[in-house]
Amino acid sequence: MERAVSACDRCGLCRTRMHPAFGEGDRHAAILLVGEGPGREEDLQGRPFVGPAGQLLDRMLAAVDLRREQVYITNIVKCRPPNNRNPEDAEAHACLPFLRRQFLLIQPKIIVCLGAVAARHLCDPSVRITRDRGKWWVKNGVRILPTYHPAALLRDEQKKRDAWLDFQSLREVYQQLT
Ligand code: SF4
Repeated sequence: MERAVSACDRCGLCRTRMHPAFGEGDRHAAILLVGEGPGREEDLQGRPFVGPAGQLLDRMLAAVDLRREQVYITNIVKCRPPNNRNPEDAEAHACLPFLRRQFLLIQPKIIVCLGAVAARHLCDPSVRITRDRGKWWVKNGVRILPTYHPAALLRDEQKKRDAWLDFQSLREVYQQLT
């Protein structure tokens, strides 16, 4: 599937990407984290969440005794939207079949939506992240937790407390399920 993503031209993001960031981590992970799309550093390296937001995500995982290697991390779109804009709906819909296949292969028990874009596509289009973060959803037996994107926490320190509560909740549910 990684080769298919590298060669993919299903949406216009293929024209401006350097390297698609397919996803990485434990392919049998109980937790699948999904962001919106690669940023500049991710586009350069072809890896998800390796820039400053990714480093913050690593620290947040460590704070609840999780290592990056224990989870699987990917995005709604695998190619960088120019200037880090949000992916458009058409781009997301073009790319979602890859995420669905990743989901089927990994079979996670928990999905964490990092930010509104992931939450709208994976929970419900009406999700507002400031209102709905921290509330668990269940779809087809999979628990889904929307929370802030780490980049939002870098822009607004005040959101960190809520994100910390969300990650504590993640740890509790993870411990119950494993
Ligand atoms: Fe293909 Fe997804 Fe990249 Fe669009 S974002 S070109 S659908 S891999």
